[in-house]
Amino acid sequence: MSLKINLRHLEDHGLHLKGELPVAELDLGVNDELIHLEKPLRYDLSVELLHDAVLATGSLALALDCECGRCLKKFKTELKLTGWAAHLPLEGEEKVPVENDCVDLTPFVREDMLLNFPQRPLCKPDCAGLKKKAKAGETEGRKTAKSAVWSELDKLKLK
Ligand SMILES: [Zn+2]
Repeated sequence: MSLKINLRHLEDHGLHLKGELPVAELDLGVNDELIHLEKPLRYDLSVELLHDAVLATGSLALALDCECGRCLKKFKTELKLTGWAAHLPLEGEEKVPVENDCVDLTPFVREDMLLNFPQRPLCKPDCAGLKKKAKAGETEGRKTAKSAVWSELDKLKLK
């Protein structure tokens, strides 16, 4: 699946696009070791042809497998853009490339996903980070060792 839209198909009426875009095709180019993208981006869009532009509106969602930047706990979250809109001009200086009557929504989706991409994932906003491990067991251990010595001595006495 790709997000290429044939303008001829838009001439009579708008289109509704619903599907998934593979991560490889989305190609966000982020190299963040705390965030992994394993599932495709899901889109649900209405596309219409205005007289000199294509307008796409709808929602985009991308599942993120994250590791908390403070406590390293793994958690899942979703980058979701509801009410997303892209305006692709077909005329003028900003006009988008048209190939075989098709325009590609992918660069617009990519740009907005990147703009909203978490900079430092946290499992919760007030994550306190890694807990320091209490030094439990140290005094306990010494006591056991001592009583073990005494019981060894008791054994000796019995002989
Ligand atoms: Zn955390």
